[in-house]
Amino acid sequence: MEQFINISYIVASVLFIFGIKMLGSADTARKGNALSAGGMLLAIVVTLLKQGIVDFPMIAIGLLIGAVIGGFWAKKVQMTGMPELVALFNGFGGLASVMVGWAEFQRISASGVAGTAVTYTAIVLAVLIGGITFTGSLIAYLKLSGKMGGKATTFGGQKLLNLLLFVILVIAGIITSMNGNYGAFIAVLFVALLLGVLGVIPIGGGDMPVVIALLNSLSGLAASAAGFAINNNVLVVAGCLVGASGLILSTIMCKAMNRTLGNVLFGSFGAAAGGGAGAKVEGEMKPVSVQDAYYVLEAAQSVVFVPGYGMAVAQAQHAVKELGEILEKNGAEVRHAIHPVAGRMPGHMNVLLAEADVPYEQLTEMDDVNPIMSTVDVAIVIGANDVVNPAAVEDETSPIYGMPIINVHEAKTVFALKRGEGAGFSGLVNTLFFRPSTRMLYGDAKETVTSLIAEFKD
Ligand code: NDP
Repeated sequence: MEQFINISYIVASVLFIFGIKMLGSADTARKGNALSAGGMLLAIVVTLLKQGIVDFPMIAIGLLIGAVIGGFWAKKVQMTGMPELVALFNGFGGLASVMVGWAEFQRISASGVAGTAVTYTAIVLAVLIGGITFTGSLIAYLKLSGKMGGKATTFGGQKLLNLLLFVILVIAGIITSMNGNYGAFIAVLFVALLLGVLGVIPIGGGDMPVVIALLNSLSGLAASAAGFAINNNVLVVAGCLVGASGLILSTIMCKAMNRTLGNVLFGSFGAAAGGGAGAKVEGEMKPVSVQDAYYVLEAAQSVVFVPGYGMAVAQAQHAVKELGEILEKNGAEVRHAIHPVAGRMPGHMNVLLAEADVPYEQLTEMDDVNPIMSTVDVAIVIGANDVVNPAAVEDETSPIYGMPIINVHEAKTVFALKRGEGAGFSGLVNTLFFRPSTRMLYGDAKETVTSLIAEFKD
């Protein structure tokens, strides 16, 4: 039996690793997801059987209830709501680790035999990291879903309070690790939960992608610590994989915003931004009719689509693909330029364009498209805002100064598709829309693109 369980754990770990590798490409991502989920199922079933906790009928009932809830949410959630769902997933991952750590602590206490310092340390880490992840993720969820203001919330003495709580956490953690003191353990739990809230409220607007990736990483580390606490290898492996991949993603996201992780976590970005900072904008936003836009596009030799969050809201990806095909048939070279943090989750635009079957070779990374931007006839900005804001490269007083953007302002003509004068996620004014080369195509992105297609077909 022991051998069978160990082999199952190795198989599950291999499935996780191959699954994650397959997630790296849009073609294999679905299979990768299924593979990893299969690995997790195997690991859970084997663990429950090993511990003699429940029998097969109970496992089946649990699976059924979980599958119904998971299936319901997967069907119900809109693509634009995915980041919120991921934030909740991270949070519940953290909560699970807290519960595992807590249960193990209670088990040891009830057994009457004191645990080792290693076990207590693992329990403290699982509860500490899991607790921060749980409440931090709930705040991230509330901010992303708009149930709580997205701006950074700061107050006097906040950093000092956080520091004080951190010191209490460390002291209580050391005491628990040394002798399993119950009071100190409860202090670890409560301070961790409080720090999760206080740690995320001062992080605002544009920094949420990094926070989500980081919380994802933390949920993995918490699971790993829980694995050490209950001596479960597959939990250690799975936790490490999540921890490492989340950290890599956080680093990539920071790079995409030209920020350090420290600056994201402690810089209170967005507290003062609110659209007020930055140089005064001159000029006006000039609208253009669909018909006039059509005449320009008809003559264009090279066109770059720059999708953003608005494309996801409008679900315009299929129409965008069709317009791209029409422009190509018309002799233009067509590209879709993807910014790493466009939309509301990493890879958001890639997922949408892949869903619409946009040819892979037309997808262009920001670093590859920027050098040729000045040769582009028309850049069509589809519901993107922050990721094309020239203030990031031109205005040193702007809160987003230094964030890499897609330099659409260098294109000969820019058509900006948006519903009105709404700001982007960061709440900043976008100087692109006031440029002489920019024309605003107001309206829902899907409707506007569909109207452009109709002009070509007429
Ligand atoms: P933005 O959020 O900056 O802008 C989106 C624009 O889309 C708005 O200006 C809005 O203008 C327009 N829009 C909304 N709905 C529609 C519609 N139906 N049709 C047409 N336009 C519409 O998006 P970006 O993609 O440029 O930037 C992403 C931002 O989100 C960055 O600041 C990033 O840091 C942040 N972020 C990114 C995450 C990620 O992982 N990718 C996660 C969380 C945040 P209007 O209201 O006038 O229509």
